[in-house]
Amino acid sequence: MSDVPQSHPRYISLTLRDKIVKGVEIGITSVHGLIAHGRGEAFDYLLSEKTQPFAISAIHAAGAMLRLAKSPVISVNGNVAALVPDDLVELANLLSAPLEVNIFHTESGREKKIRQHLINHGAEHVLMPTTEAQLSYIDSNRKYVHPDGIFIADVVFVPLEDGDRCEALRKMEKNVVTIDLNPMSRTAQMASITIVDNVIRSLPLLCAEIQKLKSDSEMKSILNQYHNQNILSEALKHICRGAND
Ligand code: ATP
Repeated sequence: MSDVPQSHPRYISLTLRDKIVKGVEIGITSVHGLIAHGRGEAFDYLLSEKTQPFAISAIHAAGAMLRLAKSPVISVNGNVAALVPDDLVELANLLSAPLEVNIFHTESGREKKIRQHLINHGAEHVLMPTTEAQLSYIDSNRKYVHPDGIFIADVVFVPLEDGDRCEALRKMEKNVVTIDLNPMSRTAQMASITIVDNVIRSLPLLCAEIQKLKSDSEMKSILNQYHNQNILSEALKHICRGAND
């Protein structure tokens, strides 16, 4: 984005748009991802484009849940691959967890391009969807998963998720951690832990949280005290206050 000065009040937002547009140009992000991004922008505006206290609480709980997981997996779609590839790779390394490509629209070999993009950013272990393992309760392409990844995972980290699959994962008794700017989306409502924030701000914070020294009992206690519905209510209240100001 050469022609927008850093002093521009919407510099960060415009930079993110550029990343998504670039993602479409290099074939890792679907054109539909532009619309999803636009929906996210609107909610981010109402969150003052800042990480709010309810997101910080969710990040603490998410760090605990991911660290206590036996088989965590990081699910990657075209938007997160375009926006935060380095942070996804860092999270995978911190958790010793695989990244797994899982997308709704599979046009033009996009799955392979996302895998290559992650490898270009330093990923070592990127799983691909297979027909050998399928999620129950879902009909779209997103049901195809890897037998050693999402299929057997106890905790799935799915930023910018599609509500159908989040619901399917929960029905399969998996825990789901998501990042979603819209506290009313089906994903936000269905997930075990919802970080209502922009993935660009919260994923680095989540990586930092995971590196903090904490005992298992401390992390279990954080999880016991966490209530996702309360966090979603706080997020919604914040948005309504902002809209009424
Ligand atoms: P659902 O099926 O869960 O109800 P949806 O149909 O509203 O979701 P999708 O188009 O599947 O939404 O996915 C986009 C979701 O991702 C939206 O909820 C949007 O707010 C959120 N989103 C978009 N960009 C970002 C971002 N950068 N960080 C966090 N969330 C984002």
